[in-house]
Amino acid sequence: MLVKYYYLNTFFVQYNIKKMKQSQLVGRSIKEIPKDEESLNAQLLIRAGFIDKVTAGVYNYLPLGLKVLNNINQIIREEMNAIGGQEILLPVLAPASLWQTTGRWDSFDVLFKLKGSGNKDFTLNPTHEELVTPLIKKVVFSYKDLPVYVYQIQTKFRNEARAKSGLLRGREFLMKDLYSFHIDEEDLDKYYEEVKVAYRKILSRLEIGHLTYETYASGGAFSKYSHEYQTVSPHTGEDTIYTCKKCLVAVNKELIVEQPDCPKCGNKELTEEKSTEVGNIFKLKTRFSDSFQFTYTARDGKEKPVFMGCYGIGPSRIMGTLVEIFSDKNGIIWPKSVSPYDIHLLDLTTNKQGEKVYQKLSKSWSVLFDDRSESAGKKLKDSDLIGISLRLIVSNKLGNKFEIKLRKDEKSQIVNQDKLMNFLTKYFKK
Ligand code: ATP
Ligand code: MG
Repeated sequence: MLVKYYYLNTFFVQYNIKKMKQSQLVGRSIKEIPKDEESLNAQLLIRAGFIDKVTAGVYNYLPLGLKVLNNINQIIREEMNAIGGQEILLPVLAPASLWQTTGRWDSFDVLFKLKGSGNKDFTLNPTHEELVTPLIKKVVFSYKDLPVYVYQIQTKFRNEARAKSGLLRGREFLMKDLYSFHIDEEDLDKYYEEVKVAYRKILSRLEIGHLTYETYASGGAFSKYSHEYQTVSPHTGEDTIYTCKKCLVAVNKELIVEQPDCPKCGNKELTEEKSTEVGNIFKLKTRFSDSFQFTYTARDGKEKPVFMGCYGIGPSRIMGTLVEIFSDKNGIIWPKSVSPYDIHLLDLTTNKQGEKVYQKLSKSWSVLFDDRSESAGKKLKDSDLIGISLRLIVSNKLGNKFEIKLRKDEKSQIVNQDKLMNFLTKYFKK
C-alpha cells in the first residue's frame, strides 16, 4: 500500500505539478483572427497558442493545448476507473474484414478507407465495436468471466463533411469509449445507470454539469432510447433539443414528435435550445455479439449471447465546447479543473523580482511564469487570451504585495504574502 501511494504521488508530481517559463514555451499568442476559421473555439485556441490548424478538422496540439486535453482525459479516466473500467488501447488501423463482418464497411457513411500492401482494404477506426467485440470474445467463456468493462481514450477518424467547427467536429478527434459486456439485459440496464452517474460526475467536474442535459434520443433497432449528453451552446450548437429545466433532461429533435413532454416528470413546458453533443450512451444489446458469434456458457450450461453497451465521450469536442461557453471578448476563461496551469504568474517588475516567487509557488502548484521582456500591457492581454483561471502579478508598484485576479471575475485584490498563501491553499483545495 505504501509503495502504491508513493508511486501515485510520483505520478502526480510528474504530471500535475509542472512549471514553465513563458519565454521558453512553444507556441505564442497571435493578434489576428485566423482567416480560415469560422468557429470561435478554433479562433481563440489558435490565437492563444493551444492548437494549430493542419487542414479542415485536423489540428496540432501545442503544449498548452495538450495540457488542457490531458486534464480533461484525467477527469474522465478517474471516473471510468471508479465504475470498474479497465483502460486498454485498441489500434487506429483495422482490416476491412472486421467491418465487413458487422456489415458496417458499406453502411458507416464517414468511414475512411485505404489500401494496404497487396491491395488489401483497411480503415482508420471511427469507433471500436469491431475491434473490442472479437477481443473480449477471446477472454470470456462462461458466466464467471462476466461482466467486463473496458475503455480507452483513443484517436478516431471520420470523414466528416462539415469540418468547419474547430475542435467540435474533427476529422481526427479524441474519444473515450467504454464498452460493457453482460450476461443479460438486466445486468446491462443496471450498469447503464451506473455510467449515467459517472457521466454526471465528469460533467460537474468539468463545470458544465448545470448546462448539460441528459437527452432522450432514438435507441435504434434494439432499444427504446439512447441518451445523449447535450451541452447548451446558444451560438454554435449544431443540435436542437427540448429541455426540461426541472430534471436536467431533454428530448432530441428527432424524437420530439413521439415524445413531446419530459420523459421523466411529464412537464409539457419544454424549451427549444441549441446544443452540442459531448457524450452518448447506447445499449447495443446483441447487435455486435451476434455478428461475431460471441456467446458464453450460462449457469444452466446453455450457450447465450453476450449483451453489450457502449458509452462515448469526446474530450477534444469538450475542449472546444468549453471555449465556446467560457470566453469573453478578451479570450478564454478555463474552468479551474482543466486550466493548463494553476497559476499564471506575471512578472511586471523591471528587475526580475518574480523569479523567487515562481520558484516558491511552483513547489506546490503548477505555474506558467511570464518572464518575457514584453510590456505590461502585452503580458496582461496575453494572460486574458490564454485564460488560466488564476492570475498573479508581481510588480515594483506593489512592493512586497501581490495582485490576485480570477480570470472569471472583474475585480482583483491586493494581498501580502501570508494572505496570498492562504488564498491559494484555499482556492486549490481538492
Ligand atoms: P454527432 O452526431 O455530433 O456526429 P455522433 O453521434 O456521431 O456525434 P458518437 O459516434 O456517439 O457521436 O461518438 C461519441 C462522442 O464522440 C460524441 O458524443 C462526441 O462527443 C464525440 N464525437 C463524435 N464525432 C466527433 C467529431 N467529428 N469530432 C469531435 N468529437 C466527436
Ligand atoms: Mg457523427
